[in-house]
Amino acid sequence: MRKKKHRRQKRGRSLSSSAMNELQQLIDDMPCQRDLLIEYLHRIQDHFHCLPVEHLHALAKVLGISQVEVFEVASFYHHFDIVKEGEKRPAELTIRVCDSVSCCIAGAEQLISNLKTISSDSVSIQRVPCVGRCDSAPIAVVGTMPVSKATVGKIKQVILVGNNKDSAPQSSILYDQYVESEGYQLYKNTLQQNDNNKLIEILESSGLRGLGGAGFPVGKKWRIVSEQQAPRLMAVNIDEGEPGTFKDRYYLERDVHRFIEGMLIAAHVVGIDEIYIYLRDEYAGIRELLTQELAVLKSKLKQDLPLIHLRRGAGAYICGEESAMIESIEGKRGMPRQRPPFVAQQGLFNRPTLEHNMESLYWVRDIVEKGSDWFASQGINGRSGLRSFSVSGRVKNPGVYLAPAGITLLELIAEYCGGMQEGHSLYGYLPGGASGGILPVRLANIPLDFDTLQEYGCFIGSAAIIVLSEADSVRNVSLNIMKFFQHESCGQCTPCRVGTSVAVELLQQKQWNVNHIHDLSKVMQDASICGLGQAAPNPMECVIKYFPDEIESEV
Ligand code: SF4
Repeated sequence: MRKKKHRRQKRGRSLSSSAMNELQQLIDDMPCQRDLLIEYLHRIQDHFHCLPVEHLHALAKVLGISQVEVFEVASFYHHFDIVKEGEKRPAELTIRVCDSVSCCIAGAEQLISNLKTISSDSVSIQRVPCVGRCDSAPIAVVGTMPVSKATVGKIKQVILVGNNKDSAPQSSILYDQYVESEGYQLYKNTLQQNDNNKLIEILESSGLRGLGGAGFPVGKKWRIVSEQQAPRLMAVNIDEGEPGTFKDRYYLERDVHRFIEGMLIAAHVVGIDEIYIYLRDEYAGIRELLTQELAVLKSKLKQDLPLIHLRRGAGAYICGEESAMIESIEGKRGMPRQRPPFVAQQGLFNRPTLEHNMESLYWVRDIVEKGSDWFASQGINGRSGLRSFSVSGRVKNPGVYLAPAGITLLELIAEYCGGMQEGHSLYGYLPGGASGGILPVRLANIPLDFDTLQEYGCFIGSAAIIVLSEADSVRNVSLNIMKFFQHESCGQCTPCRVGTSVAVELLQQKQWNVNHIHDLSKVMQDASICGLGQAAPNPMECVIKYFPDEIESEV
């Protein structure tokens, strides 16, 4: 038998005392908790513009976990940049340019090419997926400051003055103003009357559905979670990463307390005393606003409040999926969980969890005050309720429009968006962001709502409508989207991880191999764990079905 060699050195990297001191200063004001791992990583990244490995090593030591655990989380999220010892640190300033569909239509590729002139050791240019500002495409983000309808000149100006009025949140209604218009009165009444069942019934009869994309009835969800064993938790999803979607940002920037009041009412009715808000990292202005207004609320509202935690995403689209978001809040990689058990039964920290998109909570006050009929009676073309459409692309006035559920694209463009852009005629549209498929102009008269688009191989999701004209190629759009899914696949299951990569290769071929694409789509749809892999083939399948002329043309 061979003798075991003794190691002269300990496994792993040696601990740097200066890194440990620096880390401790950076996180000095924070409690020491494993689930705060991503928050600690943000502190390091914000300070150094990267994650030096010696600081990750120190962080593992502080938390009493393995270095692997820290590294696997740090390397999962796109906004973290790990730098090894001796490696060059990244530039101090990063300019991120969105290259998703709406921005590409508006000239993002040209912008990226033009920006090479200002790239240097201290300024780096990075392509990023949708940053939630598609109504002002093309978008660049200088550090944390978004630049609307970006040009090289505008970006240079922002770098020069170190500020940008675009990046300040819109003037949201703040606490005092909200209270003047009877704000938080409904919450106070709810606490006093304690008639939780009545509130659940109002929401059930209003027909309000989850507005993050899945469309699960809100009242029913409250009932299910309230019947689970306490303690129960709430997780609010403001990750809003679906390309083309920007409605959550829109509402928060204008009336942040309407959302907070809805959230507090939901917590009381369902019997929840701890809430986690998960906000996408790209919304730095909203983070500031929420931090400020939650503090004001705590100091001024003389009522018992649940404990509210504000958690910061780190640039992973998959964390918009409810169970992946929960993993991320727990400080792990954002990988979707297998279900059952469902989040309502066993979600955050294994507790029954009420998971909601921000907008679902935003409408609670209006529905309860105005009555369930007010909301339910708003739809047209046989549908019920209101929908917030994020419209971008080739329309004259892109933006968020609150319109009756069931409105058609033709009505939406004519009545809300001021028509098509000058010189453009309607060619097709994406009815539900990147994953909802692509429809041709001849299907622009179908009602837009949950459950109306399945027969066309599409879905509405979060109602992100991207309008295409004759100047656009749906073939290029589908390739753009598949590259996005390839980039954002969490890698947990093979049909999605490998499928998106193979699909990108297939879509780059001059002539599409339709049979191969169909086979691949089938495997991805049937065998992927979560909605990302299952929906990723929708756009390419729609191109084959509705735009056959395009699949034989050059990319
Ligand atoms: Fe991850 Fe894609 Fe599988 Fe979802 S389908 S779990 S994103 S690899």
